[in-house]
Amino acid sequence: MKAVINRIIPFSSVDGPGNRTAIFLQGCNINCKYCHNPETRKMCVQCGTCVNNCPAGALSFDADGKVAFDPAKCVQCDTCIHVCPNDSSPRTCEMTPEEVYAKVKKQIPFIRGISVSGGECMLHPDFLTELFRLAKQDGLGTLIDSNGTISFEDYPELMEVSDGVMLDIKAFEPEEHKKVTDVTNEMVLKNAVYLAETSKLYEVRAVIVPDLYDTENSVRKIGDFLAPYLKIHDIRVKIIAYRPMGVREEYAHYQIPDQEYLTHLADIMKEKGFEHVTVI
Ligand code: SF4
Ligand code: SF4
Repeated sequence: MKAVINRIIPFSSVDGPGNRTAIFLQGCNINCKYCHNPETRKMCVQCGTCVNNCPAGALSFDADGKVAFDPAKCVQCDTCIHVCPNDSSPRTCEMTPEEVYAKVKKQIPFIRGISVSGGECMLHPDFLTELFRLAKQDGLGTLIDSNGTISFEDYPELMEVSDGVMLDIKAFEPEEHKKVTDVTNEMVLKNAVYLAETSKLYEVRAVIVPDLYDTENSVRKIGDFLAPYLKIHDIRVKIIAYRPMGVREEYAHYQIPDQEYLTHLADIMKEKGFEHVTVI
């Protein structure tokens, strides 16, 4: 069993509690307009555009006609990502859970756990289950970062080895969620309830793009929707400011929300009983 890995960050302090190794899987099933890693969205179609534009000769075609990447020659200029017409990256590799875990294992003295993100990592539930089983054998924490569009309830074995989920609720109203991501959010909200009821909703995240959807209404409704579950377990909240860095050109024009407004949204959640609300 293999998955396409976009990158592995050995130490991350922003992907869950403590120092963690963060693993990003390639490929996503929705289309967030504000995606700041659009190169993780799709699989490479071997079109060769990046090969012809790499200034360092780090990309070539192998004997099978697939793009080969030579990290030793790469100068990290990101030209390949900018010229890719397919929201993909040539700097990915296929790995088994065991191969990924071999990299994680080297960090064990320095990390508390692993977090897997994407793209959308729930497109690879069997891969996640195997990777988390390996992590659990060494006592590491295991968190999933997800857009919530794939049912967690359908993967009980995965949930058994997952400590929790950092769940994006990209808009509360279904039609606004569709405007932001191209899909409605019935499954996202169903997942939120399932995770809250099973004490696996580690964190809820909302990216604030006031030009794109009614962010205050959305935050209020997320708060009302999830507050009843606070008596089961603590649910962290992360209010994330839209930033244009890395966003596709056609979506990079939105206004960055100011700190005062973000604090106002955080206060709404605190008033509803959420104790751990972070603004970033
Ligand atoms: S970042 Fe991409 S384009 Fe730039 S040197 Fe590396 S492989 Fe080539
Ligand atoms: S990474 Fe993008 S530009 Fe490069 S071969 Fe794949 S699809 Fe084409």
